[in-house]
This record gives sequence, structure tokens and C-alpha cells, in this order.
Amino acid sequence: MSDVVVLARKPAPAPAAANGARQKVFVHTFGCQMNESDSQRMVELLGRSDFVATAHPEDADLILVNTCAVREKAEQKLLSALGRYREHKVRRGAILAVGGCVAQQEKDRLLKRVPYLDFVFGPDQLAKLPEMIDRARAHERFAETTWVDSAEYVFPRADPEAARGRVTAFVTAMKGCDNVCSFCIVPHTRGREVSRPFPDVVAEVAALVEVGVREVTLIGQNVNSYTGGCTFAELLRRVAAVPGLARVRFTTSHPHDLSDALVEAFRDEPKVMPHFHLPVQSGSDPVLARMRRDYTVEEYLGRFEKLRAARPGIAVTTDFIVGFPGESDEDFRQSLQLLERARFDNSFSFVYSPRPHTGAARRLGSAPEWQEVPREVAVPRLEELQALQRWISSEILAGQLGRNVEVLVEGALAGEESRRFGRTPENRVVHLDADEARAPAGALLQVRITRAHANSLSGEIAS
Ligand code: SAM
Ligand code: SF4
Repeated sequence: MSDVVVLARKPAPAPAAANGARQKVFVHTFGCQMNESDSQRMVELLGRSDFVATAHPEDADLILVNTCAVREKAEQKLLSALGRYREHKVRRGAILAVGGCVAQQEKDRLLKRVPYLDFVFGPDQLAKLPEMIDRARAHERFAETTWVDSAEYVFPRADPEAARGRVTAFVTAMKGCDNVCSFCIVPHTRGREVSRPFPDVVAEVAALVEVGVREVTLIGQNVNSYTGGCTFAELLRRVAAVPGLARVRFTTSHPHDLSDALVEAFRDEPKVMPHFHLPVQSGSDPVLARMRRDYTVEEYLGRFEKLRAARPGIAVTTDFIVGFPGESDEDFRQSLQLLERARFDNSFSFVYSPRPHTGAARRLGSAPEWQEVPREVAVPRLEELQALQRWISSEILAGQLGRNVEVLVEGALAGEESRRFGRTPENRVVHLDADEARAPAGALLQVRITRAHANSLSGEIAS
């Protein structure tokens, strides 16, 4: 999970505003890849009217904050960001709006809590942004958070021109989630699953390849339960067959949708990259049952082993929640044991955060097995798990020393024009001492790994 400012690098050409000058939009994105992708669609859409993207909120005529509600902390970050943007609103008369999951969750309550906010819009309302901006210019304050019926939902299409010059791109395959994990707010904020028809997905990938994209990541809250006219395994094969595409990835997945057909796609299709983000959440069966995750640790490991047998060397990453209600010391030890057994390449781990409208938050404190885990217990557990993960990750990275690996070059390292970076098929970041002429963006290079760091590798071009 990131907290980033996402801007389309090259917004599509747009007619000038009435006074001849183009308006500027600044987008601040919290949360997952779905949000990053939505933010890019927003900038592209506004680029077709009278807006151009800016990286400086102080210059903006329109400030959009695209939010995440998965953990409470993300909401607190939103409120402090809004406090900062208030001054630009006062000074420049900028329009200030909030989109994404917190918008969907809070609706007009957010307008009441933040009196200087102009409007609030849910994830399904993105296509109406130009219209909503006109309403805000006419001094209307409103919340637009209705769902679009799944049969009528039209996925916003990426503007390939905005991706020109980029090596990697996200492509939306589905939205929403039909699962009921007891900790998770996503089904409430993103609604029911809707899959994008496969011809649209494939056409968007082909259009991105035309402008130079070499790697796509298919995204969705629960992407491998895809039903857009074929199975997810078939979708991967269709995308992999797009001429000129070098690599396909996807995120994020629920273990119960890891089908044999998907394992076979990993075995047979070399363009499907050997990296799988497969969130486990806990190493304890009773905790998994209370989380409503519908698999046991052994079942999870069984699928994991099938994957490793089908694609030797595949990197598996995961998510853990610690301090879930009723998590005993023994339950937590089992999460550590699972981490040691599975030796995940990496993991994202979080302290449980009670979310409104979720089963676990409703039951919190209602019975001994739903007792709240105090923060003074949960935080040291998180630190212990993360320390173990750092150790395992560094051992895995050290194991790469001296190997030749294929690296897809993505560009210059931030602030270091003489150094480049790219990723291995397993999604490991590699730094290269090479200039653009030797390692142009989009090149697939054989690289010999010479150093291993905490989170990345360094190497030299071998061919
Ligand atoms: N769909 C994915 C899955 O099934 O695992 C996960 C998507 S969720 C938006 C991303 C991650 O946020 C989850 O895997 C979980 O670890 C974490 N998360 C979700 N709700 C949480 C909560 N209430 N407290 C702490 N972490 C949470
Ligand atoms: Fe949330 Fe993922 Fe569970 Fe859906 S499958 S409810 S997105 S954790």
C-alpha cells in the first residue's frame, strides 16, 4: 500500500479554457493500485476538457484527494491532507474534492465534517467528474456516491497517449468484491464484483503496447475471481498473446480463487511473470475462521506448493494482519511459523484496524474469542513479524548474488541520472550502474547480480 501523488505523465491534448489558460489539477492518491489507476483515469479524463496536471498543490485550481478506507490511519491522513490543502483553497479559490473509498463510506457526512470541502464522489462516479466540477463552480456542495448497476457499469478506458514513454501500466480487469472477510471494508466501499469484458481488456493492452508499454499488471480487488467472458487463467493467456507485450502480472488475489487452471497458466505461459501476491492474513486456523477466509493454513500451503512445483523459483508475497480480535500469543506464533515455513519473498503486515460495517468490528469484545488485542501487545507482534520478514527477504536477496537475471529497465533512479533501475521476473528491484544509452527504458537485459541490499539488488549488464 502506498501513499503517493499520481499524475498522468502526458495528459491528452485538450481545448484551452475560456480565458485561453488551462486549469491545473493536482491529485493526491492514498491506497492501493486500484486507486492509483483511478487517479490516472481522472487526470486523463480532465485532460480532455480544460485541465493539465500539476505536481504542486499550491498552483492547482482543482485538488482531488483519492482516498483509502482499509485502515483507520488512512482516514486520519486524509483529514490532515485536507487541512493542508485548505490554505490553497482560501488563497487561490481552488476547488477541493474527495473521491475513493472514504468518500463512498462517509458520503455527505464528510461535507459536514469538513466545511470547506466542495464535493465528495464515490468510485463509480468518476466519469461524471467534468459535470461535478461545473456544479462546484456554480457553488453547489454535494456528495455523489450512488452505485452504478453492474450490468450498466462502463469501465473507464485508459488513454494510451498518457502512457507513451512508460514501460509498465495497470489495466483494470474487474472491480468490487463478493467476499465477506470479517475485517474488510472493501465490499462496502467498492460494491459487488463486476468484470470487464475480455475483448476490452485485451484491446486496452494492445493499445498500450502500441505506445511502448512492455509490461502490464491486471488489477482488481479480487482479480482471479474474474468472469468477463472467460476465466482469469484464459484472460492471462489472451493478454500474454498480445504481440509485443513482454510481461504480464496481476494483483490482488484471494487464495480460494487460485484454481488449477491458473497454476497451469504459470507453468505454460512464460510471459506470465513468476510472482504471486497471495494474501494469507494469519497462520492460525481459528483466526482464519473468524476472519471468514475459508481456507486452513495447510490448504493455503498446499496451493502454494502446487504453484512452486509448476513454476520453480516463483516468488510468493503475502499480507498479514496481527492483533486480530482474540489473537492469542500462540495464534501469533503460528503466523511466525507460517512465515518461516513459506519463506515469503516479502509481506505487507498491518495491525488490525476495526472498520465500520464489518463483521469483526460488530463482534469486537462480544465473547472471549472476540476480545480486542491491546495496541501494546499488537505493535510489538507486528515488529517481530516484520523483523523476521526482513531477515528472510535479505537471505533470499543474498541468494541472488552472482546470478544472471533478466531485467526489464523502467528508467532512471530518482535523483541519479547515471543509474538505472528495473525489475526481475520475480518483481525484485535491480539497480544498474549504466546510462540511458546502455540501459534504455523498455530494454530487457541480462544482468549479473553483484550486490544485495535490504530491499533491492545491484547488478552489471552481462550482455
Ligand atoms: N483482496 C485481497 C485479499 O483477499 O487478501 C486484499 C485486499 S485488502 C484491500 C489489502 C490488505 O489490507 C489485506 O490483505 C489486509 O491484509 C489489509 N487489511 C484489510 N482490512 C484491514 C483491517 N481492517 N485492518 C488491518 N489490515 C487490513
Ligand atoms: Fe477484502 Fe480481499 Fe476479503 Fe474482498 S477478498 S473482502 S477485498 S480482504
